[in-house]
Amino acid sequence: MKDRILIAGGGIGGLAAAIGLAQKGLKVLVLEKAAQLGEIGAGIQLGPNAFHAFDYLGVGETARNMAVYIDNLRLMDALSGDEITRIPLDDAFRSRMGNPYAVVHRGDLHGVFLKACQAHANVELRTSSGVAGYDQDANGVTAILADGNRVDGLALIGADGLWSNIRKQMLNDGAPRVSGHTTYRSVIPTEDMPEDLRWNAATLWAGPKCHIVHYPLQGWKTFNLVVTYHNDAPEPVAGKPVSHDEVRRGFEHVAPVAKQIIDKGTDWKSGCFATAIRC
Ligand SMILES: Cc1cc2nc3c(=O)[nH]c(=O)nc-3n(C[C@H](O)[C@H](O)[C@H](O)COP(=O)(O)OP(=O)(O)OC[C@H]3O[C@@H](n4cnc5c(N)ncnc54)[C@H](O)[C@@H]3O)c2cc1C
Repeated sequence: MKDRILIAGGGIGGLAAAIGLAQKGLKVLVLEKAAQLGEIGAGIQLGPNAFHAFDYLGVGETARNMAVYIDNLRLMDALSGDEITRIPLDDAFRSRMGNPYAVVHRGDLHGVFLKACQAHANVELRTSSGVAGYDQDANGVTAILADGNRVDGLALIGADGLWSNIRKQMLNDGAPRVSGHTTYRSVIPTEDMPEDLRWNAATLWAGPKCHIVHYPLQGWKTFNLVVTYHNDAPEPVAGKPVSHDEVRRGFEHVAPVAKQIIDKGTDWKSGCFATAIRC
């Protein structure tokens, strides 16, 4: 079938591209490596431009319904515990930008696009279909799957993440650079978040070689904790469970008010995101 667009990767990027193309009348086949479509359990911050894009893709209202609308972006000094600055996200901000600044659970946001794709006749979603590479000629493109199967299409979009095989074949510009920073993430029930830090804000505590981020999620049921420190990590790691002690090691020097956030985290997982970057 040469009349469809192929998309390698069914993450937020791949599914957003799929629904956008489908709404333009094009047929789309999403090829996802994983056995199930889904997203990691953590939060994501959405600037006003994201909501402009969601509206364009017809999912604005659904995305708005699951977002938490924070009052401020707060920058804190992790050594002294003092506030450095804050940006109010009030009505003046919203009317200037034409949309709010919000935070949302990644799984929820991915679910918005997944439902929209599943409901659209032009989108086909295929799991357990890792794309190893592609062939192309004047008439179209053929995705070569990891199991050797070949899938034809008009064009192929690489939305297969940081370690994209499509990018590798097209640009051959090498592996992502390892930055040496390691990020750890945890999502905790709101009642476990220190009471004095249950702020309706996306907060960043900045310290030497480390920072801590937290904000509420899922209608204030949970708090997203993302902490990063520079430990010269030699290689990227993704989704690996890590001990509390490992996480704490990078934050021995921060003020008690900030350190208590680390102590509240549970089921910490390392993420490859901050250790491997494209530049
Ligand atoms: C710590 C951190 C915090 C962030 N916070 C924010 C934020 O607050 N706001 C924001 O806007 N952005 C944020 N980002 C960036 C944002 O998360 C990413 O840009 C976005 O999730 C990338 O989505 P994607 O669909 O392109 O890729 P991915 O989410 O990586 O999805 C790729 C998909 O492709 C699949 N895949 C992989 N290889 C293959 C293959 N060979 N064949 C087929 N399928 C394949 C994977 O299984 C996956 O489903 C953050 C990033 C990090 C690291």
